[in-house]
Formats: sequence, structure tokens, C-alpha cells
Amino acid sequence: MPYGSQGRLHRLTGPCSAWIADHAGWGYSNAGLIVGGSSSLLVDTLFDLRLTGAMLAAMAPAVRDGPLRTVVNTHANGDHYFGNQLVPDAEIIASGSAAAHMVQDDVESLRADLRAPGPHGDHLRHVFGGFDFDGITVTPPTRTFDGELTLDLGGVEVRCLTAGPAHTEGDVIVHVPAARTVYVGDLLFSGGTPVAWAGPLSGWIAACDRILALGADTVVPGHGPVTGPHALRETRAYLTLVEEAATAGFHAGRSQQETVAALRLGRFGAWSEPGRLVQNVAAVYRHLDPTLPHLPHAELMMRMGDYEAAFRPETHVPEGVPHRCAG
Ligand SMILES: [Zn+2]
Repeated sequence: MPYGSQGRLHRLTGPCSAWIADHAGWGYSNAGLIVGGSSSLLVDTLFDLRLTGAMLAAMAPAVRDGPLRTVVNTHANGDHYFGNQLVPDAEIIASGSAAAHMVQDDVESLRADLRAPGPHGDHLRHVFGGFDFDGITVTPPTRTFDGELTLDLGGVEVRCLTAGPAHTEGDVIVHVPAARTVYVGDLLFSGGTPVAWAGPLSGWIAACDRILALGADTVVPGHGPVTGPHALRETRAYLTLVEEAATAGFHAGRSQQETVAALRLGRFGAWSEPGRLVQNVAAVYRHLDPTLPHLPHAELMMRMGDYEAAFRPETHVPEGVPHRCAG
């Protein structure tokens, strides 16, 4: 993906807009803008300073009369908060568990991984080589909450709700009831495969139910195009499929690799990044046996890449991996 890929500001209903990245792959994240009567709120910054700066410049006309005074980070993955330093005057809000994971070491370990020799480094350079992580000083939240936090942007009510652990430990959604709009961060990859860094998948399924119960018509995902509640129902169906198959595999004594190889994705095989199945199965296994170790991030990314290199969407069977019945 060429670095020039950025995004565009889409006006939604009422005070709500969404910054939608031109590309939905790893690290190319969306953001949200809610313009109130007295001030505006930004949902998430982007993965590096150039992308975040370009987004803020595009938003400048919209916030001329209601300056950007609040940022809500939906979670602690760098593609949703590494740009925080470019909004230095804003109050930055996140869940307590997300804030605990926003550390400078996130940037430094990613930069070190990108310099690593060998296939792990090559794979990461292929995935993240289009971003520029120079100059990033992690700027953590100035206010944290757990549960619910209601804000008033000069007559526009904004509700922040914690919904994790699911995608990460501290997922937050931002709901604007009057506009029937909800910004859900990476609890939804529109057109892409979910990835459960934290899990359990049952927690994510419950989060989908909570979001659906809000009755919003417009759902802004962390990645991919703006969508509606049907996309959350599809994510819920994928997570249920994986949880049931991985739980059965675990109890049958199959290895994670065997369970991944046996799992038929059906219509979900058409989503981008199908290799995230590797992490999702691992999340189920670790929930069932918390003593199982975490794979190093670079190794995990490589295994996902290997799965995708062998993936045949027409059959959903990775090449060279023998078929096994998941039941
Ligand atoms: Zn993301």
C-alpha cells in the first residue's frame, strides 16, 4: 500500500462525521468527529503523525466554531492513539484498562520489530512499512473511566461506554443517541476479519449484543466503511462460529494449528485478513487454559501471513494443511 493512502471526512447524521481511511488493512484506521454547540470531540487519532496531521487539517473547517476539546481513544492499539500528541490542548479520555496499556514501549518495540532481520522483520515491513513511526511521543489519557461517562458538547449528548475485554482489554464505544450513531472502534472491522487480542470471544459477543441494543442505525467501525447493525450481527456470527469450533477442538485434544486448519469459514472467508483466525483460535484456547503462552507479536503476525498466503477462498482450506473434521 503506498504511503499516500489517507482518508476522507464523511458527513453522517446531525453532529456526526467519520474519517474513513482509503484502505482498510492493518493500521489504516478510521476516526470520528462529533461537532457540538460549544466544542467538538474526536474519536481516536491515527497510527502516525503524518496521517493524524492530514486528518486534523481536513477537519479544521468543521471545528472552526466548536474547537476540538476532547479526544476519546476507543482502545490502546497504536492505530487509534499514536497521534494523540497532535491534539495537545484536548482532554484525552479512555477506559482505565486501555490507559494502562498506552506506553512509549509500544512505539519503541514496534520500531525495533521493523528493524529486525529475517522473515519476521520482512513480514512486518511488508505490513507496516508504509507508516512513519518517527517522532511519536506517547500521549496518554488525561481522564479515565470505567462503565459509562456522559458528556455534553453544548447540547449534544455523547455517551462513552466500556465494552471490553473483547478486541482489547479496554474497548470503549461512543454513542450519540440523538443521531442514532455509534462509533465502535475495533469491535467492528467492516468487511474485515475481527481479531481478538484480548478476548474472550464470549465477551466480544456480549459487546455486540450491547451495541445492538442501543438501536443505532449508523455504525462507524475502526476499519472499513461506515455501516449499520447488520455488520455487527455478522461479526457476532463469525465469533460464535470460531468460539464453538475452537472450544470443540480444545476439548477433543486437537492442537491450535489443527483446529485452524479444520475450521471452515464459509461466507466469512470473503472478509479481508482471514489469517486473524490464528489469533482468534488462540484466544479461545487461552481462555480455556490460561497457562498457555502468548506467541511473540512478530511470530504471530507471520503465522497469520502464512495462513493467508495458503488461503484459497473458494474452498477455505489452507493449501498443504490436511482437512480434519471440526466436529
Ligand atoms: Zn485498529
